[in-house]
Amino acid sequence: MLAKATARLGTETAFEVLAKARALEAEGRSVVHLEIGEPDFDTPPHIVEAAIRALRDGYTHYGPSAGLPEARAAVADYAGRMRGITIPAEHVVIMPGAKPVLFFGILSLVNPEDEVIYPNPAFPIYESVINYAGARAVPIALREDNDFNLDVEDLARAITPRTKMLILNSPANPTGGVLSRGDIEAIAALAQKHDFWVLADEIYARILYEGEHFSIMSLPGMPERTILLDGHSKTWAMTGWRLGYGIAPLPVAQMMSRFMTNCNSCTASFVQKAGIAALQGSQSDAEAMVAEFKRRRDLIVDGLNAIPGISCRRPRGAFYVFPNVTQLGMKSAACADGLLREAGVASLAGTAFGAHGEGYLRFSYANSQANIREALSRVARFVEARR
Ligand code: PLP
Repeated sequence: MLAKATARLGTETAFEVLAKARALEAEGRSVVHLEIGEPDFDTPPHIVEAAIRALRDGYTHYGPSAGLPEARAAVADYAGRMRGITIPAEHVVIMPGAKPVLFFGILSLVNPEDEVIYPNPAFPIYESVINYAGARAVPIALREDNDFNLDVEDLARAITPRTKMLILNSPANPTGGVLSRGDIEAIAALAQKHDFWVLADEIYARILYEGEHFSIMSLPGMPERTILLDGHSKTWAMTGWRLGYGIAPLPVAQMMSRFMTNCNSCTASFVQKAGIAALQGSQSDAEAMVAEFKRRRDLIVDGLNAIPGISCRRPRGAFYVFPNVTQLGMKSAACADGLLREAGVASLAGTAFGAHGEGYLRFSYANSQANIREALSRVARFVEARR
């Protein structure tokens, strides 16, 4: 009954695990939620106020598909300042979340005979959309001994004349890995030499614990072949508002805008006004959130490393840890399932992010320190019971 192409569409396990965890809670069980990737903080009040003001001012109508002119200008200014480049506002397309940038960006550029290289483990929607476009998805394994960073030599080996695009994600979900400036320069040189596009997913650019964010779009010759994906979901705790943006050369931006016309018409007008307040207003709430994430990162990394059989690297960005659980002698999926059912800790199997995630779990530490402590003692008891 369903269209053939739908068989190629993947999904995101986080939402399934959340449903399972909620079902257990409905039976009266206690669950600590470390499965879902969203800040547990509220959206800063000045952003909420801007949305309310916009609703009262009548921003309740359709707007241009690519976004309100003032919202595109604000994003161009903010994203350009952050990356030390000048971005024309016409290159910006405002979307309901960052996810559509992946969908519309890939469908704008990729043909069925093309190959798209992507990191694995990674955000599962990359593989899903590449497959849906009918292209060949070429994974590059991210290895723990390389701090889960894309190895430039592996990338060089994966490139063929059919390579149309590379997807980069730094800081990364699910590993928290951050690419070095040197690696980004080497990747940019390969993109120019072999003439492929880069889709740079920088949604965690502001959730960084050491150093400054460096974007591949800042390098000469790269704005012409990069789609930048970013948005408000993580930085300002706005996941449910649905607000993100893509930045790309004009023909690609225009095509993404056409997808918007076909699919969403436009992003909610009052939400875009709130988004401008987020970009231009006080950053103190966003900065306080990152400072708290850093304390939680240290808490969870130290706590996991104190449990025999688990080892965990200290990620430099995003709000996830990706501990190695191979010593526990269980497959990742069985381990995540056991932790949920027996210990009441919701996490994701590393394999939810691709085959190369076997042997790992992903915990999101976007939860209170008290809940993280409780989760750690539950994990310790779960592991102890198996020894
Ligand atoms: N890219 C990555 C790596 C993510 O982890 C997420 C959300 O979890 C997104 C993109 C999508 O963000 P949004 O909720 O704004 O669509």
